[in-house]
Amino acid sequence: MKLKSKQSKITRRQQFKLFLSIMASFAVLFLTLGLIIFNLFQSSTYKSIDKDMREQIASVKKQPNMQKQDDSNPGPDHPVQQNKPNPKMPFQASILVFDDNGKLLNKSSLGNRYSALKNINLNKKNINKKQTIVVHNMSFRSVLIKVSKKNNNPMYAGHYVLIMQNIDTQIQTMENFEKILILTFFIFWIIALVISYFLARINMLPIVKSWKQQTEFVNDASHELRTPLTIIQGKLEYMLTKPNKKIIDEAEAISVSLDEVNRLNSLTNNLLDLARFDQATTKLNFEYTEPQLFLKDPIEPFKDIINSQSKVFQINLNHQPTLYLDRNKIKQLLIILLDNATKYTPKNGTIKIYDQIEGSKYQFIISDTGVGIKDSDKKKIFGRFYRVDKSRNQSSGGHGLGLSIAKQIVANHQGHIFVRDNLPHGSEFVVELPIKHK
Ligand code: ADP
Repeated sequence: MKLKSKQSKITRRQQFKLFLSIMASFAVLFLTLGLIIFNLFQSSTYKSIDKDMREQIASVKKQPNMQKQDDSNPGPDHPVQQNKPNPKMPFQASILVFDDNGKLLNKSSLGNRYSALKNINLNKKNINKKQTIVVHNMSFRSVLIKVSKKNNNPMYAGHYVLIMQNIDTQIQTMENFEKILILTFFIFWIIALVISYFLARINMLPIVKSWKQQTEFVNDASHELRTPLTIIQGKLEYMLTKPNKKIIDEAEAISVSLDEVNRLNSLTNNLLDLARFDQATTKLNFEYTEPQLFLKDPIEPFKDIINSQSKVFQINLNHQPTLYLDRNKIKQLLIILLDNATKYTPKNGTIKIYDQIEGSKYQFIISDTGVGIKDSDKKKIFGRFYRVDKSRNQSSGGHGLGLSIAKQIVANHQGHIFVRDNLPHGSEFVVELPIKHK
């Protein structure tokens, strides 16, 4: 129990670590994506503002042409108003004209904007530089240019002109966009986390399951190994307390120990077989063969064993299809099934082996009139170390590994094994193998 809780703690810790790393990766991903999108949006907004500014600069500098077309001598703000006529928003664009000493020259044309703009000073260092300035909580994109003395507009000619474009709406839009972006990405981050949490769980399930199976297998195996070892140790220690006794006197203790050694031997062989199946290192010698070539040999010794136990053995094998298989492995499978049928069938019972062809499959069936297997156990008995009645099976010498080896052997032959009831009582183990044509 302690081992299991420790293992589940380790599994949970690993899941948590995995989850944290997914969380961090998504955060970095969304943050980077958000920054890229925001920067793109910001630069495209500023680009469009700067385009307007360039048009305004061109408009100020092109005064000579305009002068030719229009002799009404417009004021300094006029060109801007021509480009962006928006009387409802006087602060949308403004133009300040300074002389060399920084004196504001177009005070009168600014009208009511003057009180807000009067604190802006001329800074010659910023000439031709696009800048964002804040005046009375209003943000402007601005550029300072020096207008040539040849300019036909006397108001601009030879002066410094500061072109200002109000960008409050754009800044507000960017702030809104930033908020929406953060919120959206936060929601998507949470959704991505939830999805990845469930995906991680689904993906971890088979790993966790096989890890659990593996540790259970090791636990069961060590438990099974410990039992015979304890018996052997006990018998040897007992014999050591009587060193003067003859071997014949201790025949029983020696025979019990030998039985346990045999049990250990078969257990380690079985474990080795299963380990090889797990690592896919079992070498199989496939060949084209017929049932009589691999069923006859393992059946022979069982005739005597079964008869000696006052049980009936019936053999009814009639088909000879061509099969492609490892004869030794199928013999091992048959021995497991016949051994079980013999073990779990009481005196006067009948054990039968017969075969049939089902479509492209060859089936051989080992049936008995023994204790039978409950429906709830029919699948479980193919699991490792599973025994229906542990106390009874302890006496019959089983470890609960035979059928799992049988299942692996059949799987390696692309076949199928299952158990069904043999009415009125007993069980039938059906082995189905594909028929091959040379
Ligand atoms: P074991 O070495 O214990 O027989 P197996 O893997 O061969 O291990 O079988 C698993 C369990 O399935 C057995 O312990 C027994 O309970 C049950 N079982 C197997 N074959 C039969 C059978 N022919 N009749 C009844 N029960 C069986």
